[in-house]
Amino acid sequence: MAYELTETHKLVRDTARRIARERVQPRAAEIDEQAQYPEDIYAVFREAGLLGLSVPVEYGGGGSLLALILAVEETAKYCCSCGLILLLSALSTESIIIGGSEEQKRAWLPRSAAGEIRGAFCLTEPNAGSDAAAIESRAVRDGDQYVIDGEKMFISGGSVANFEIVIARTDPAAGTRGVSAFIVPTDSPGFSVARLDRKMGVTGVPTANLVFQNCRVPAANLIGEEGQGFRIAMLTLGTVRPVVGARGLGLSEGALAYALEFARQRRTFGRPILEHQAIQFMLADMATQIEAARHLVYHAGWLVDQGKYDRQYAPYLSFAKVFSTETAVKVSSDALQILGAQGYMKDHPLERHYRDARQLMIVEGTSQIQRMVIARALAEGDIVYG
Ligand SMILES: Cc1cc2nc3c(=O)[nH]c(=O)nc-3n(C[C@H](O)[C@H](O)[C@H](O)COP(=O)(O)OP(=O)(O)OC[C@H]3O[C@@H](n4cnc5c(N)ncnc54)[C@H](O)[C@@H]3O)c2cc1C
Repeated sequence: MAYELTETHKLVRDTARRIARERVQPRAAEIDEQAQYPEDIYAVFREAGLLGLSVPVEYGGGGSLLALILAVEETAKYCCSCGLILLLSALSTESIIIGGSEEQKRAWLPRSAAGEIRGAFCLTEPNAGSDAAAIESRAVRDGDQYVIDGEKMFISGGSVANFEIVIARTDPAAGTRGVSAFIVPTDSPGFSVARLDRKMGVTGVPTANLVFQNCRVPAANLIGEEGQGFRIAMLTLGTVRPVVGARGLGLSEGALAYALEFARQRRTFGRPILEHQAIQFMLADMATQIEAARHLVYHAGWLVDQGKYDRQYAPYLSFAKVFSTETAVKVSSDALQILGAQGYMKDHPLERHYRDARQLMIVEGTSQIQRMVIARALAEGDIVYG
C-alpha cells in the first residue's frame, strides 16, 4: 500500500503553511494566554477554504482527509488549538457523511464546509468515557420529534458550535444496538452550556459541559436509523484519529525546529550546545520519531480516502494516533529540555507545546484504548506479521 501527495494536496499544504506562518504563529501565545476561541483565525481558515477539506466534493468540500491532515500538520506547528479548530470541521461532519441521509448531507455539509456553521461531537458523559457503550443520555421518540435528556462532558468547541452531534440511547435494553446519533442545533429548546472546563492546554478551544433537558429536535435529525448510532460514532472517531495524529506531528515538528535553532545559538563550555553529542542525539531521535509518525499519519489518512476505515483497518488508524501523539509528548519534552530553564518559561513556545501535547494522548480514544484496538487486531489475525 502506498500513498502519494497529489498537486491538490501540495497546494493545500502550501496554503496552510503560509497561513500558519503569517497568521497563526503571531497569535499563538496570545490565544493560549487569553484562553478564548480565536474567531479571527476561524475567519482566516474560512476565507482560505480550509474548513471543509474532508467533506466530499459533491457537498462543497475538498474530499480528502489527507488534505485536512496536511493543513492540520502545518497549523499545529505553531498552535495546537488552531489545529483542533480544523480537526473539528471533520469530527462534526463525519457522522453525517458516514450515516446521514441525502437530505441531511445537503442541509448540513455545504454550510459546514463553507464555514457558515460549525459543530461539535458529543459522546463522553460523566459515566462513559473509554467505555462509550455505557452512555446514559436518552432520546425518546414523541410524534415527529425526539426528546433528548442527558449530560455530555469535555466537549471540544461545544459552547461555540451551531450544532452538536449527540450520541444517545434510544433503547436501554439493546446495548450498543440501542444507541442512536442525532444532529442537535444549539438553538433547540432544552439545550444549554452548563460549564466551561479549566484545563492544562489547548486553551484556544473551549471544552464544555453540555446539558440536554427535554431537548426537542425534529425526528428528521436522527442520523441513519435508530440503533446505528454506536457504529456511526466509532467510525467517526476512527476516521478522525489520523487527524489527531496530524496535530501531534505538526506540534512535534514545531518543537524540533525551535529547539534546533536554539541549540545553534546557545553556547556552553565554549561551543554551541548543538556540538554536544548528547544534544545531537536528542535531536536525531526527535527527527526519527517525526519521520515515522508522518508516514503512519499520512498512510492512515490515505486509507480513509480510499474508503478503508472499517474494523479491518482500525489498527492502522490507531497506529497513527498512538505513535504520533506519544511522539508529540516525548519530542516537546525533549525540546523543552534543550532550552534548559528558558524552555520552562512562557517567553518561548515549548512549555505551551508540552502542555498541549498532553491532551492528545487522551482524546478520541486514549493511548490505552488504541493499544486495545491494535492488540485485538493482532489476536484476531486482522494484522499478521511473520
Ligand atoms: C481536552 C479534552 C477534549 C475532549 N473533547 C471531547 C469531545 O469533543 N467529545 C467527546 O465526546 N469527548 C471529548 N473528550 C473526552 C475524551 O474523549 C475522554 O476523556 C476519553 O475518551 C477518556 O475517557 P475518560 O476521561 O472518561 O477516562 P476513563 O475512560 O475513565 O479512563 C481512565 C483511565 O483508564 C484507562 N482505561 C480505561 N479503560 C481501560 C481498559 N479497558 N484497559 C486499560 N486502560 C483503560 C484510560 O486509558 C485512562 O487512562 C475530551 C477530553 C479532553 C481532555
